[in-house]
This record gives sequence, structure tokens and C-alpha cells, in this order.
Amino acid sequence: MIAEILCVGTELLMGQVLNTNARYLARGLSALGITHQRQSVVGDNPERLREALQEALRRADVVITSGGLGPTVDDITKRVTAELAGQELVLRPEAEAHVRECFARFGREMTPNNLSQAMFTADSVLLPNPKGTAPGAIVPMDPEGAKFVIHLPGPPRELEPMFAASVAPWLAARSENALRSRYFRLFGIGESDVDDRLGDLERGGNPSLSPYCSLGEVLLRLTAAAPTEAEALALMDPIAQEVRRRLGEFIYDERDDEGGSLEECAIRALRARGWTVATCESLTGGMIADTLVGVPGASEVVKGGLVTYMSVAKTMLAGVPAELIERCNVVSAEVAMAMAQGTRQRLEVDIAVSATGLAGPGGGTPERPVGTVFLGIATAKGVRAIPLHLTGDRPRIRQLTVKHALRALIREAAGA
Ligand code: AMP
Ligand code: MG
Repeated sequence: MIAEILCVGTELLMGQVLNTNARYLARGLSALGITHQRQSVVGDNPERLREALQEALRRADVVITSGGLGPTVDDITKRVTAELAGQELVLRPEAEAHVRECFARFGREMTPNNLSQAMFTADSVLLPNPKGTAPGAIVPMDPEGAKFVIHLPGPPRELEPMFAASVAPWLAARSENALRSRYFRLFGIGESDVDDRLGDLERGGNPSLSPYCSLGEVLLRLTAAAPTEAEALALMDPIAQEVRRRLGEFIYDERDDEGGSLEECAIRALRARGWTVATCESLTGGMIADTLVGVPGASEVVKGGLVTYMSVAKTMLAGVPAELIERCNVVSAEVAMAMAQGTRQRLEVDIAVSATGLAGPGGGTPERPVGTVFLGIATAKGVRAIPLHLTGDRPRIRQLTVKHALRALIREAAGA
């Protein structure tokens, strides 16, 4: 089965509304293992909509439309589709009852044009809309039942639950494929590097291997489609092993869903270890602590944090000897370690992480260019420093520092 997405609405073409429905539906289709090779957007214009529908139906078995189910003159999706199917729109009593009930519930007067929301072709299967007035529909386009158009409402808060409750099960029952995915989360390697190392595996098609990149991180999705789940897993297994063999050192999480962020993994790892954590932050100014605290359940592991931006604060709050800062430079492995150790003692935690560095734009020297950062990690076992050489502007350097600190916490808590 091949599906296509066709979003209807001039507001999408004008750039007034971001086409989040296409993204939602595309994710839904790929999660179901349904082949999906095209998406299009067309304005509220009958001729162009008709043309787009015709084209899509030539290529696909199922065309999912979003938008244009409302009562106004620009809501043309159902009418144009019915014309293509060679059918009339008729008033469907169950839909009429729903529309009337919506108006009654909101205490609003129903104008006659609203009945258009209850008009469908006689053989359409109606899709309930618990979040809005306009029902959706599965519209057979030929007597053989080979091609369908599925109408969904435009507002994402109506479309998303309708797809999940009514369309996904319908598609799953008709799809010849089971689909399995595995997600690898990587840190410390760029997307092009990943591509370089996995390029030969990425060309496979099925299983497919796709990297998605965000700041400092890569999410790698491995997906296989096969007649049964067991066969899909069997297809995936050798590739998953190869991914682990080639990129194992960069993988911090691997799961059947998209998995957790670095901070979620850090909290999970600390919790599993039964550890409390504290931070001592210079260039990140509290961002590491803030990121950790953003995770539900952080209260069990995050004890507190020190923001020690000026050198004098490192001495006052974390007990870093002024003499050490003078001798080694405030951006140094020694100071990072002293910050972590002092924090670990003063806050009485199992692990303390510190960060000192140059976020720029000014202040760099040939010896210590902007982006020079030292993390300190102190545990009962001892203390160590992690030197980083980051690039980019001030916000990027600070954010990357946070991510490296989280990665260090994960490694340490996991005992790696
Ligand atoms: P409609 O069902 O065409 O009347 O659309 C109603 C509203 O839903 C529009 O004004 C948009 O705000 C929103 N909408 C329509 N299509 C999309 C889409 N593809 N993605 C996100 N929002 C949309
Ligand atoms: Mg519209």
C-alpha cells in the first residue's frame, strides 16, 4: 500500500501556518510501515485541488487530506473529492446529529451552511471528531475499493486524535507490512561522520538507517519492514550489531522508541546508581543544574548547584584556593578539578560536576582560544578533568558544555 499526504489550505502556501499536519501524518505513516513517497500542499482552489488529487491517486492507493472540511465557501475538499469519485454529497444523519450537538453544547445558533459539515458521499465511512464539529471520512474512490481518500480536519488538535483513533487502525489492518524501529542516540560525533562510517549500511533501503542531527547529538533510526514483526527484527539485527560495532563509543542510549534526551539519561543513570549530584558552574551559569532539574524525578538526585562566575566566587563558594587560580589560570584542568572536589565536599554529594571555560566572543589567547573548556568530575574514587575544544558562538559553546557535562555524568554513573 502506498499513501500520499495532501494538505489543503491557502494559509499553508502563504506561510501563515506551519504545516505540522504533514509532519504528524508522515510520522504516523512511517510508524505503520506504510510507503509514503510524496506530500503536497494546495490552496483552497477547486481546479488545483482536483488536479492534485487526481495526480496523487494515480501514484497512491490512499490519499490523506488535511483541511477544508469546515462550513465556509473555501472549504472544498469533500466536494472536489466527491466529484472525482463521480458521487453526490448527501446529508448523513449521524454526522448531522454530531454537528447539531456541538452547537447545542456551545449554546450557539447553527446557521444552515454548517450542515455542509454533515455532507458526505453515501459510501463514506465517517470518522468521529471528539474535539470539533467536522467529522472526517474514509471515501472509496472506485467500485473495486482499490483507492481511498481519507479526509481529516485542518486543526492539529482535531486531526491528531482522529488519525490515532480511527485512521491508524484502519491503515494497519490494510498494510501488508509490520514495521520495527530501533533508535540509537549518539553524542560526540557529527552527522557527516556518522554518514561516513555507516554510508554503506544507509544505502540498503530495507532496513533503512537515517541519522537526524541536533546540537552535538545524532539520533539514528534503524527501521525494517517485513510481513511479520519477527521477520522485521531478523532483518534489523545484523545492522544493529554493525552500528554498535562501528559507533559503540558514541552511543549513550538505544531503545525501541525515540528514547530519552541526554538529561533524561543522566537522571536515569544517577538514579540507578543511587547517587546524588551537585554542579559548580562558571561559563554555564547554572545551565547544567537547570537542565537536570527540567527532568521529572530530578528531585531524587539533584542536590544543588553553585554558580561561581568570577574567580572570587570559586574561592568563596567552592573553596578553590586563590593561589591555584593565580598559578594555573582560571580556565585550567586544575581549577576545574578543585571546583568539583570543593563542591562535592561542601554539598556532600556522591558526584559533582564543574565547568570552567571561555565562551567568548572576547578573552581568547593563542594558548587558550575561545571554546577552551574544562569539566571536572569528582566522585568517591577521585577527581579528573575533561578538556574540551569547542567551536561556535557564545550560546553554542555554553550549550555544548552542558551536553558534555551530562554525557560525563552518564558515563561516570554507568561506571564506564
Ligand atoms: P481548515 O480545516 O482548512 O478550515 O483549517 C483550520 C485551521 O487548521 C487552519 O486555519 C490552520 O490554523 C489549521 N491547519 C490547517 N491545515 C494545517 C496543517 N497542514 N498544519 C497545521 N495546521 C493546519
Ligand atoms: Mg482551510
